[in-house]
Amino acid sequence: MFVCRLGSLNALEDLKPSKFWSSWIETPLPSADQLGRIAAVTCPNTVRASMRELYDRMRRMKSIRPWFHGYFALIVDGHESHATYRRHCDGCLERKIKTANGEKTQYYHRNVTALLVTPDFSLLLDAEPQLPGEDEVVTSMRLLERVLKNYPRAFDVVLGDAKFTDPRFFQFVTGHGKQVLTVLKDERRDLIQDALGLFKAMEPTWVSEEDGKEVRCWDQEGFPSWPQCGKAVRVVLAIEKTKVRRQLDGQVEELTSNWLWVTSFPKETIGTQAVVHLGHDRWAIENQGFNEAVNRWYSDHLYKHHPGAILVFWLMCMIAYNVFQWFFHRNLKAAYRAKVSMQHVARVLASCLYQALPEAKPQLT
Ligand SMILES: [Zn+2]
Repeated sequence: MFVCRLGSLNALEDLKPSKFWSSWIETPLPSADQLGRIAAVTCPNTVRASMRELYDRMRRMKSIRPWFHGYFALIVDGHESHATYRRHCDGCLERKIKTANGEKTQYYHRNVTALLVTPDFSLLLDAEPQLPGEDEVVTSMRLLERVLKNYPRAFDVVLGDAKFTDPRFFQFVTGHGKQVLTVLKDERRDLIQDALGLFKAMEPTWVSEEDGKEVRCWDQEGFPSWPQCGKAVRVVLAIEKTKVRRQLDGQVEELTSNWLWVTSFPKETIGTQAVVHLGHDRWAIENQGFNEAVNRWYSDHLYKHHPGAILVFWLMCMIAYNVFQWFFHRNLKAAYRAKVSMQHVARVLASCLYQALPEAKPQLT
């Protein structure tokens, strides 16, 4: 269902008579209702164990390749799967929303997901539901506790957005022997002011000009202005200027974007260019992980409103996503990959299911 991007359990049930299944499963395909009920009672750790087995196999076959700097990065990010005013379950989070008909209680589910980024594809490794009354940082630490146990050597650094620029998160990650790199925003005003004040008086640490993009970076470690973190931190600023030609009048416009990161990585182990590269990696979870899963894989669809089922369907979708990425990037020939999109390949796979239906040939009148 996920790999072929069918979008619903009912669409899968419509394919129940397909002869395709007999070569893969020994019993008939369960109905949509049965699949929902099975997901609700499935222990998520059994699905996580399959995920781990898949990762081990990929490592053994040397399918996971390192970046130019040699470090593997794990991105954590929170994601809201759906929101509703109507039905709710034990795992629902709640918030008050002002509507035209007065204040209403909205119910929703959120999880924190971990994604391993590699140069050519990303792997969704694990997810943890956010429980009522806790914030994303607490959920992410529970997630990382398990990820560190299941994938102790899979990554060197944990990346997160500004929400994770939190002393609890920094202490937790560094306390487990990993580095951490997050986006630095207004919440840490003292640190930002100190860093920007110092950078103003400094020449850039690293400058690059390539393909019409100019990058100027400032990089300094040993900032004591975030005492809650427990140790001095390193701050990196990147000012990136890109020239684009406006479609409307053909004029060249210069776009500037500023990036500020804070990290525990010492300068002696990793240079400025690699920190900037890792900082930009954080967006991979938006672009490759969530956006792809939500928009193309229908991971947000509420297959069954039950806290266990929601998690199990998301974990199953993650496995499907990883298998598909692996198949696309390591099994298909480069020349074929260059010609087709992933969507195309998913449709070819779906066509196998439809073609094996007994009434596959349309009756034309
Ligand atoms: Zn719920």
